[in-house]
Amino acid sequence: MYLILLGAPGVGKGTQSKYLVESKGFIQLSTGDILRAEVKAKTDLGIVAKECMDKGTLVSDDIVLNMIKNKLIEISDNVIFDGFPRTLIQAEKFVDILKDLNKKIDKVINIALDDSIIEDRLAGRLVCKSCGKSYHKIFFKPRKAGVCDDCGGVLYQRSDDNLESVRNRLEVYHSTTKPLINYYDKNGILYNLDGNKESLELFNDIVNVLEEDI
Ligand SMILES: [Zn+2]
Repeated sequence: MYLILLGAPGVGKGTQSKYLVESKGFIQLSTGDILRAEVKAKTDLGIVAKECMDKGTLVSDDIVLNMIKNKLIEISDNVIFDGFPRTLIQAEKFVDILKDLNKKIDKVINIALDDSIIEDRLAGRLVCKSCGKSYHKIFFKPRKAGVCDDCGGVLYQRSDDNLESVRNRLEVYHSTTKPLINYYDKNGILYNLDGNKESLELFNDIVNVLEEDI
């Protein structure tokens, strides 16, 4: 199954992806990881991508799509696409790439949450410097202030986790993602889930969507 998880920053997409990988055998494909791997391996696409990065220009959709295509030829399992597609144009091009492989996106899960709740979550977020685990100043305190429960690493507040930049990030997210949500809705594969739940409860909802026949 090919799955896309959509959701604004702060809805817990990372946690849900992790659950899907750990307990449902999904592979998480992040375009950033694929890009870095191709550059490192100096493949043809990697070399072109590196030139773009060195010049400070964006790596084009077509390069990224072809990298994803190559990766999908290697793996044929359950895949979650992380951070891709980001725009409607990418989504439309993605359909053609998948057609070449006789594949399609099976389901798109949109984790919906009010902006005001996201603002509260992100503006109080603390992140572990060592393992990346997220905490919250009010809602999810570590056992010992400033220290990660899991690894003992130092907790810090990301510079973009303040109210003003959180609002900006949400605005950018909504304006780019809305057309994408409408597009998948029209295709009949969009599932909206309520993000205002405990993470395990939300995961249960996701599993129910995955098990539902289409
Ligand atoms: Zn940690």
